[in-house]
Amino acid sequence: AHQASIPTTTPATWLGVMGGGQLGRMFAHAAQAMGFKVAVLEQEEDCPAGQVADRLIRTSYTDAKGLEELASLCGAVTTEFENVSADSLAALAAKTYVAPSAAGVSIAQDRIAEKRFFVDCSAGSGVQPAPHKIIASEADIEAISSDLLPGILKTVRMGYDGKGQVRVRSIADVKAAFAEMKGVTCLLEKMLPLAYEVSVLVARGADGAAVVYPIAENVHRDGILFTTTVPSDHVSDAVAKKAQDAALAIIAKLDYVGVLCIEFFVLTDGALVVNEMAPRPHNSGHYTIDACITSQFEQQARAMARLPLGDVRQHSPAVMLNILGDIWYEGESENMREPAWDKILALPGAHLHLYGKAQARRARKMGHITFVAPTMAQAQAQLAAACAILG
Ligand code: ADP
Ligand code: MG
Repeated sequence: AHQASIPTTTPATWLGVMGGGQLGRMFAHAAQAMGFKVAVLEQEEDCPAGQVADRLIRTSYTDAKGLEELASLCGAVTTEFENVSADSLAALAAKTYVAPSAAGVSIAQDRIAEKRFFVDCSAGSGVQPAPHKIIASEADIEAISSDLLPGILKTVRMGYDGKGQVRVRSIADVKAAFAEMKGVTCLLEKMLPLAYEVSVLVARGADGAAVVYPIAENVHRDGILFTTTVPSDHVSDAVAKKAQDAALAIIAKLDYVGVLCIEFFVLTDGALVVNEMAPRPHNSGHYTIDACITSQFEQQARAMARLPLGDVRQHSPAVMLNILGDIWYEGESENMREPAWDKILALPGAHLHLYGKAQARRARKMGHITFVAPTMAQAQAQLAAACAILG
């Protein structure tokens, strides 16, 4: 069933991206470096990916004419955000090669389908998702078993960066939270005792060959990724191997083509739990740009173009720091100033990536810095110095 007969899209032809955000921008940089031309479909003017694309098709993600234009121009199309409609991907797939496919993306868009899929995979991988229950009605709330509490009520669709989630301790809390979500279907997950969080980036070609990147440790603040550390000394070789093997099993079972990121929890008792997946390059994989032989974005271009996948080896220990709009503000005030990039760039091994967003806003992802160094201790010292500079 593998699609080795699908013709390769060679550099000099066009690759398309649904979405104009920073992931599309970094994808464009990588694809253009290889000689591809990049077209972006996005409604917003002056978007991060649109600024660097060879062509910007300014329209909505569901506009039939725009999709037609993108598909007829491009030898392959991918998506840089996960909530693109399955119908749009199917319309594109009728005209050009689309990776990842609508089937893979739609599982990741829906926490119920995603959990069910992880349960299906667990027979092979031995890695389960958190205990959970679908909450679609008041009756479902009455039937909640007490061992799911305390828990987290998550909307089934459109959640990201901790949005669409409420922590609940009691049935009454669930009722209030469910009402606040205006009755959209939710998933109640048991609150697990996390020791730390990790993610595994995997990529798979149209020929079924798959590669797995080193495991990354992620620290979140206020629901948003704060730092990614690779390698992390918290992560034992056994946990790393178990998570990487589970990621390879998941990407194969999905029959997925492209880059996929899978988030896991490591519990205080050492158990590994699979949390969620993103059907695209991921914030926790940004370190690959500066610390691996093949970045996640180059890998995406290779996979969608049906070219050989690149070497995933890491050449330097790395720490990635997300830059949120908050650091443009002076403390709690509304006064804004430009962060001291000159001081950041004076740190050895600091790679600054800014996404070209015109306006800094609190909690908005504006860029990231990756610190690479001969040793992790040195990379962490750079991170500490940067945090002191940025405040
Ligand atoms: P998002 O789509 O917003 O990334 P996640 O499901 O990854 O949603 O949840 C965001 C964060 O909330 C996780 O990174 C983790 O810190 C915490 N979290 C989510 N689910 C659980 C859980 N079942 N137990 C403990 N912490 C959780
Ligand atoms: Mg998450």
